[in-house]
Amino acid sequence: SRIPRIVILGAGYGGIVTAIRLQKELNYNEADVTLVNKHDYHYITTHLHMPAAGTDNPENARVNILKLIDEFKIDFVKSTVVQIRPQEKKVILEEGTLSYDYLVIGLGGEPETFGIPGLKEYALGIRSINSVRFIREHIEYQFAKFKREPNRTDYLTFIVGGAGFTGIEFVGELADRIPELCKEFDVDPSLVKIYNIEAAPTALPGFDPELVEYAMNVLQNKGVTFKIATAIKECTPEGVLLATGEEIKSSTVIWTGGIRGNHMLEEAGFETMRGRIKVDETLRAPGHDNVYVLGDCSIVMSPEGRPYPPTAQISMQQAEICAQNLVGQIRGSELKAFEYKPKGTVASLGRGEAIGIVGSKKIKGGTAAIMKKVVDLRYLYIIGGIPLVLKKGRF
Ligand code: FAD
Ligand code: NAD
Repeated sequence: SRIPRIVILGAGYGGIVTAIRLQKELNYNEADVTLVNKHDYHYITTHLHMPAAGTDNPENARVNILKLIDEFKIDFVKSTVVQIRPQEKKVILEEGTLSYDYLVIGLGGEPETFGIPGLKEYALGIRSINSVRFIREHIEYQFAKFKREPNRTDYLTFIVGGAGFTGIEFVGELADRIPELCKEFDVDPSLVKIYNIEAAPTALPGFDPELVEYAMNVLQNKGVTFKIATAIKECTPEGVLLATGEEIKSSTVIWTGGIRGNHMLEEAGFETMRGRIKVDETLRAPGHDNVYVLGDCSIVMSPEGRPYPPTAQISMQQAEICAQNLVGQIRGSELKAFEYKPKGTVASLGRGEAIGIVGSKKIKGGTAAIMKKVVDLRYLYIIGGIPLVLKKGRF
């Protein structure tokens, strides 16, 4: 009989870990595995706030995919997926078509703009190596422009929309970067403004209030101005309009207001919520026993019936079960139910500062910053072993 064909879409946290596990588990000629990704590198999304602000080099946030997988066991195709056709068991790529018996969807998320006018057109997002290189260059360029037009303080005003973890981690880095830029461009630091604007009654809604207060204090001391319980209503080429009626003039708006699933899922006819597929306990799309969905494209419900937040952590745990279930399905053995085991959350607040909950323990300051490094290094170790830790790890 024909060798079953597995196609993995996306080499993010979900896709790359699935591929790495499959190449370990599958025996010779048990399945053909193809991994498709837009770029020939995997990016470490959880680092992107740093190269976005310019506090780290984008090279440290990406790894060549062929360094992570064994080409004798997995075919890598560098291409962009344009359409998924589950009825025909086909995927349409920018150059060509792939047929599959089993599909793994790990295409990640897209910015959720909630239909707010102007955000798609005028705001920037922290989503990929290319997008963060753009943000870094854009920020530097605003300083250079200000030197030619010293009345334009809007060039020195930076707006971050959304104080979730992405927004908070980014303003922490940006606040660290500003003094360097001021020195480089001979700009008076008191002219620079960083606003972090959050619609909910608190920053980091749902997180431990004591740690949120700690984080806000650290960031305020570094020069971040918070506007809490203040929704962005519109984004324009001149800045933002707030629900309070206030307008803030700024040539830089970074939108970190949330993510949704990849638009192709809805287009493929899957049932979605905010673009994401609510998977069954084996991580498959309901009604499709050969389609697995991982990471930001998926929704997994907690025992309390709430969707778990989309994170790298859950994506990687899903990938382990997805790989086991693919092998199980091919061998005709029983499939496993996925159960998320949260290990904690640690968020950076810039150089030497972080907050987190590990197990039931609250951590903050230097201890949390070290823990953040440990979590980052552990991921490098999982995907690339000691060599990758030595090459990309920052100690
Ligand atoms: P992704 O990692 O987003 O990967 C998707 C892949 O698909 C990418 O390689 C992309 O190039 C590829 N792709 C997309 N579209 C196409 C296409 N059409 N064709 C081909 N390829 C395509 N989570 C944590 O758990 N801990 C953290 O500390 C943390 N920090 C974060 C910090 C920042 C700044 C951000 C933005 C997010 C952070 N997250 C964190 C969230 C985490 O990064 C995401 O939940 C995670 O990346 C989702 O993994 P994924 O596998 O679903 O998709
Ligand atoms: P998010 O959805 O967690 O946060 C978005 C924030 O934007 C929310 O607080 C929301 O109230 C706010 N917002 C929405 N509309 C707004 C408006 N009109 N005006 C002002 N504010 C508005 O998104 P995120 O921060 O990008 O995080 C995405 C996922 O990635 C989450 O699951 C998060 O836990 C995870 N993540 C984790 C880490 C970490 O663990 N260190 C870091 C980054 C992201």
